[in-house]
Amino acid sequence: MDGHFRAHVDETLAGIEDAGLTKRERVLTTPQSASIGVATADAPVLNFCANNYLGLADHPDVVAAAHAGLDAYGFGMASVRFICGTQTPHRQLERRLSEFLGTEDTILFSSCFDANGGVFEALFGAEDAIVSDELNHASLIDGIRLSKAARYRYRNADMTDLEAQLRAASGARFRVIVTDGVFSMDGAYAPLREICDLADAYGALVLVDDSHAVGFVGDGGRGTPELFGVADRVDIVTGTLGKALGGASGGYVSARAGTVELLRQRARPYLFSNSVAPAVVTGSLAALHLVASSSDARARLNANTALFRGLMDAAGFDLDPFGGGAAATGVVRPAGVPPHPITPVMFPGADGAREASAIAERMLSSGVYVIPFSFPVVPRGKARIRVQLSAGHSEQGVRACVDAFVAAASAE
Ligand SMILES: *Cc1c(COP(=O)(O)O)cnc(C)c1O
Repeated sequence: MDGHFRAHVDETLAGIEDAGLTKRERVLTTPQSASIGVATADAPVLNFCANNYLGLADHPDVVAAAHAGLDAYGFGMASVRFICGTQTPHRQLERRLSEFLGTEDTILFSSCFDANGGVFEALFGAEDAIVSDELNHASLIDGIRLSKAARYRYRNADMTDLEAQLRAASGARFRVIVTDGVFSMDGAYAPLREICDLADAYGALVLVDDSHAVGFVGDGGRGTPELFGVADRVDIVTGTLGKALGGASGGYVSARAGTVELLRQRARPYLFSNSVAPAVVTGSLAALHLVASSSDARARLNANTALFRGLMDAAGFDLDPFGGGAAATGVVRPAGVPPHPITPVMFPGADGAREASAIAERMLSSGVYVIPFSFPVVPRGKARIRVQLSAGHSEQGVRACVDAFVAAASAE
């Protein structure tokens, strides 16, 4: 039996390797930052592939607050929340997140993966229908699977298809539309205004996972509901503390008080998994304070994104993941909305995957760390290097990234 299973595992791994899909982890020797040490490079490299959008992962205030939390509240909780795992800062962070997002209440999870894993099963049953964007994050897909609700899927950001699916689900007790606020491979915003209009027309609820937006999208950093002016029309928001908000770990669901209370009673990853570590909570509180009290980092982030896009455009790179067909997919950036810091540099065509990966490799050896993505992570023929800007990048760093792209591409 053991030999048989071992052979199966080895064969599966060989299959993953043969398909070119093995993921290799690059080891960092420094804190997460705009410039990092990696074990395989002699000199520090400029980092354009973390979700550290506001540069808070090693911010001195956040680190100091985590130290203070460690001293005041100890290392670990060794308990779930409802037994003896709730401390003052856990409550404080839930309150501050609610104030920040403009919601009634918030419940913390160990990760957004857990938040999404718990929210559907606890709130929706077999009489209900969940209508989900095809490009939603894996954790939403898994969370939806865990509930007994009927499942409907609509084409990415396609409002005609969403309406058709809402009609198909007309027999359900509750219908809930589920979308990422931002689709992470394209840096595209979900059309939340149109989604809320359809929700109103069909009496549906709306759930948005704003992991790639909270802290830096919208004038106040409150995410895509703020950006599109629909904060009061989105019923449930989920998000992560593991990206812009300091980047440690933790996730949340924010909603009306009753919804959150029901999750405290029923959400399995909340009931059966350990509390978020105190130092992570106090560090996240400091990150949230920085985000809520100043828009300087957001302005720097948007300026870096605009600078990068402008220079790359001028250098002849293709930054449009929709190949000029944005209107056809429904993924259109409304006038006045700044581009998301996720900037896909496209390498279309049959040779694109090899090209993207060769260019990323050359860039790393010249000191700029970017990540290529190809099928099956993105559609065939739509290979790309996904560049993620940060408020932590200097103008000089952004220019160095563009120069590295130009040099690496001209070596093709
Ligand atoms: C990153 C991400 C998650 C997972 O968040 P964790 O807190 O790291 O588990 C969930 N949903 C979306 C849309 C994400 O981008």
